Amino acid sequence: MPQRLVRAIYASRTAPGFGLSMIEGILSSARRHNSVADVTGLLTFSSEYFLQCLEGGRAAVNEIYARICRDDRHQDPQLLLYEECAERSFSQWSMGYVGETALASETIRRFSAGSRFQPTHLGGAAALALLEALAGSVKTS
Ligand code: FAD
Repeated sequence: MPQRLVRAIYASRTAPGFGLSMIEGILSSARRHNSVADVTGLLTFSSEYFLQCLEGGRAAVNEIYARICRDDRHQDPQLLLYEECAERSFSQWSMGYVGETALASETIRRFSAGSRFQPTHLGGAAALALLEALAGSVKTS
């Protein structure tokens, strides 16, 4: 039986010692696994935080999210949104990536109470809207 299409959005803090150079490893691993599982999404990162959306079949999203939660490159993952969805928002990317430089304070302020990127403070709808606004800045597939 086909799985329901779901979307999960979480935010987490980078682990001590995490550096920008580690992003490439995360992305190549994410894209490899997600392509196989037909999971798509978007990841954004600032020096302190990750915000990521995963969308795909329920079992695949749950399994990948559980693995991500065990990853010691970040900490305190907080699920901001988990919902069945009618369509994917980031269907073109096995994992799109938007780096810190695209996180303009104006964009952050549109969806937050302040202009600092602190995604663990976002509600689910605001987190999705922020990621959708950032999608125009994705450079690689
Ligand atoms: P590989 O893909 O073979 O690992 C690739 C490289 O990463 C290797 O050099 C390995 O040493 C290193 N590595 C793997 N796990 C860790 C770790 N826990 N700590 C330090 N280095 C490590 N995975 C997905 O499948 N889909 C995603 O969308 C996804 N998004 C992620 C987002 C974030 C913010 C983070 C931190 C991780 C994400 N991951 C994602 C990675 C996931 O957490 C697992 O690390 C990965 O799925 C494990 O795959 P693998 O065992 O095949 O390792």
